[in-house]
Amino acid sequence: MGGGGVRLLILGGTGDAAELARRVVEIPALEVRVSLAGRTRQPGEVSGLVRVGGFGGVAGLVDYLEAEKIDLLVDATHPFAAKISENAAVAAKQTGIRNLMLVRPGWEKLPGDDWYEVESVEAAAEMLPSLGKRVFLTIGRQQLDRFSHLHDTWFLMRSIDPPETQIPGGKLLCDRGPFSLDNEKQLLQKYQIDTLVSKNSGGDATYAKIIAARELGIKVIMIQRPPIPHGEKVTDVDAALKWLKEFP
Ligand code: NAP
Repeated sequence: MGGGGVRLLILGGTGDAAELARRVVEIPALEVRVSLAGRTRQPGEVSGLVRVGGFGGVAGLVDYLEAEKIDLLVDATHPFAAKISENAAVAAKQTGIRNLMLVRPGWEKLPGDDWYEVESVEAAAEMLPSLGKRVFLTIGRQQLDRFSHLHDTWFLMRSIDPPETQIPGGKLLCDRGPFSLDNEKQLLQKYQIDTLVSKNSGGDATYAKIIAARELGIKVIMIQRPPIPHGEKVTDVDAALKWLKEFP
């Protein structure tokens, strides 16, 4: 164990990770570190000792866990951040550290939803020309280039920071959620959007666009989540805290 008590590393980059970091103060025996990938220029406020940047694969993560004498790991990364979750699961196994995955539930299709479910961003790009011409592309900024060959489609894109890669033709909005239903409806109407492309991220912060599409009869290409590693899982912050309270 680390000096002051049980040392916890939270792998972050999500609202759930930030909330967990804020609330682990409820457990005085825990000393917490939070790791961010460093993708956003100005990350939201995060409690605890924060480190930023990749570890250097599984080997780098194992080195970090050992050097920092980490006792427990909570992987609270985004459901689409598959690489870091896989690395965390492998590194935890190698070091014998308990790893809890905090995986919020995906959104479920409801009556009125016109969803086209696909397995990947690439599959969404392949399907898109057969569905729509004016598209709201809300997949973050890292994979926008997968759509840049679609010259007959107009894109409204939204990401926290401007993309570094080539983006498709259209308009870019830099904004950070949560977004209100009114905001999302106005955007869809103002730009005459006929199709929304979204990852099935789950959670409340970005769900309004899905409700707006349902209410306005707009098609949604919903990108399914990548597989999650085997291991211990909870679906919300309360359950993660309960799990952590077992380790003083
Ligand atoms: P990824 O593909 O799973 O990871 C790529 C590499 O980035 C990892 O191998 C690791 O580098 C580094 N990395 C990722 N998360 C890290 C963390 N929390 N701390 C330290 N290094 C990290 O991840 P991604 O999809 O690029 O996502 C990056 C971050 O953005 C994650 O923290 C995630 O929670 C957040 N995020 C992602 C999405 C999304 O749609 N993908 C959406 C919202 C937020 P090394 O191998 O060098 O350790």
